[in-house]
Amino acid sequence: MNDPELLQLARFSTSCSVLGPGKRAVVWVQGCMRHCPGCVAPETWDPGGGTAFSIEYLAEKLTRNPEVEGLTFSGGEPFLQAAGLCALADACRKICPKFTFLAFTGFTLEELLAREKRDELALLARLDILIDGPYREMEHENLLWRGSRNQRVWFLTPRYEHDWKPRIHETGVRLELEADSETLHIMGIPPRDFREKMDEIAQKLHLTQQNG
Ligand code: SF4
Repeated sequence: MNDPELLQLARFSTSCSVLGPGKRAVVWVQGCMRHCPGCVAPETWDPGGGTAFSIEYLAEKLTRNPEVEGLTFSGGEPFLQAAGLCALADACRKICPKFTFLAFTGFTLEELLAREKRDELALLARLDILIDGPYREMEHENLLWRGSRNQRVWFLTPRYEHDWKPRIHETGVRLELEADSETLHIMGIPPRDFREKMDEIAQKLHLTQQNG
């Protein structure tokens, strides 16, 4: 993705309550090089997949709901499109000066700092919360906003620290459904093997329909 005015996304949502504090808009960035076993979103891996959206269009859409207090960058690997996400964050803040930002990443915070890439550091500087580290199936646990024990929540500004830091060890599954005209989307961090089980159920329903 070389055009600084565009972001390549798997999809976006204008309202989600399970991927960060409060009600948030979410963009699922397209492209991830890690291919973690058990990843809940393998459709986001191919950097050539997804759809290109203009930053102006996204900023206007994602800030429209007055109940939404910020934007979550999920994926895929958000830091592969760090420059575009900085531009999106700035465009959102122009419309909603109090908008907050959270990013998931497969990098650790230490790795991002050591890479010393200008766009990645600029994205870090815009974040209120970073959730770092790849999903590790062997360390699976349903923690607040995370699917495995190695993933950490960094409060990079004081904005949410007081209310949410004491809660980061909470466990439990938090999922939300969103439907468009063709697809039912599941948002949040699901339990282990959730995708396989859903595929099995969908296959059984399909067979039942064919035999009915
Ligand atoms: S880093 Fe995240 S999106 Fe990428 S493969 Fe791992 S779990 Fe999936």
